[in-house]
Amino acid sequence: MNRASSLAPDDVAQLACGILADERAVLARAITLIESKRPDHQSSARQLVQRLLPHTGAAWRVGITGAPGVGKSTTIDVLGSHLTGLGHKVAVLAVDPSSARTGGSILADKTRMARLAADARAFIRPSPTAGTLGGVAARTREGMLICEAAGYDVILIETVGAGQSETAVADMTDFFLALMLPGAGDELQGLKKGLVELADMIAINKADGDNLARAKVAAAEYGAALRILTPQLPEWRPPVVTCSALTGAGVAQLWDHILDHRRRLLATGAFATRRRAQQVKWMWALLEDRLRARLARDPKLKAKLPKLERAVADGTLSPALAVDEIVATLGL
Ligand code: GDP
Repeated sequence: MNRASSLAPDDVAQLACGILADERAVLARAITLIESKRPDHQSSARQLVQRLLPHTGAAWRVGITGAPGVGKSTTIDVLGSHLTGLGHKVAVLAVDPSSARTGGSILADKTRMARLAADARAFIRPSPTAGTLGGVAARTREGMLICEAAGYDVILIETVGAGQSETAVADMTDFFLALMLPGAGDELQGLKKGLVELADMIAINKADGDNLARAKVAAAEYGAALRILTPQLPEWRPPVVTCSALTGAGVAQLWDHILDHRRRLLATGAFATRRRAQQVKWMWALLEDRLRARLARDPKLKAKLPKLERAVADGTLSPALAVDEIVATLGL
């Protein structure tokens, strides 16, 4: 039986207690509850998150992006193990809406992070598989809050190198790391995609063996390109570094840069400003999702929408008038 079914308020309180006591099985159950699409589960999940809210927010949240094969899981395995070695508790989550179609393309297989998966100070959770990017991101964000309440003080959120999921992850993290490959012939591709506007650091991975020289060239090219861009924040100019998740070279240094960023943003207050803005943005994103779902469900509107859409497409009805009619139908 699904243990998340039929959750009474007492159970929510029990779940909260188990999470605060860092009981791993309870943490996994709570995340299953958050990922459930059943309305009663969603309502319990919201109560749970609200109850745990005072215990959240203390972790450093790091997003990690990069094309498939760039070495995200290998890097997370090495970086995460380095961090647990320093005494941190590390949670690894993911935002990968494509996993709804493919049955899980990133993090589906924990053997990709074999060391970390066996580490008692680490918790790894694959991307929620169901739904839209908005839904997947919402569940990952709530999963992150739950992990924070369980005492995880570093949250690593992996995403694939695709526009909108990157933005969603950048919007829920404090630091955004972009992994790139050396000598792929399209070094500046990320710049074109606007990724660099999101990235707080670019790391050229696989800087080992024959690739080492090419990785250095790639880093110099990215560095030069970044120097002509205005940084997002005056207190931080995104560094470009090289690393090898295979040999471990440069991986500990990734964390040094992340800590340096943290120190600077905390000192100027930019950190608090960013978190506050993220929370409010988050509320609006949830509201938009909820309203959209409500629109999709409204029976009167369902009957009307195809006709309205057709009329707008044909140019016989202006989009503004169509919206007037939709709003009137909803009684808003
Ligand atoms: P992901 O798809 O981005 O998560 O990439 P993976 O971490 O699964 O790595 C893809 C492949 O690249 C695997 O075969 C890894 O062993 C290899 N790989 C990862 N990091 C490095 C590295 O730093 N150097 C080399 N030479 N290979 C690496």
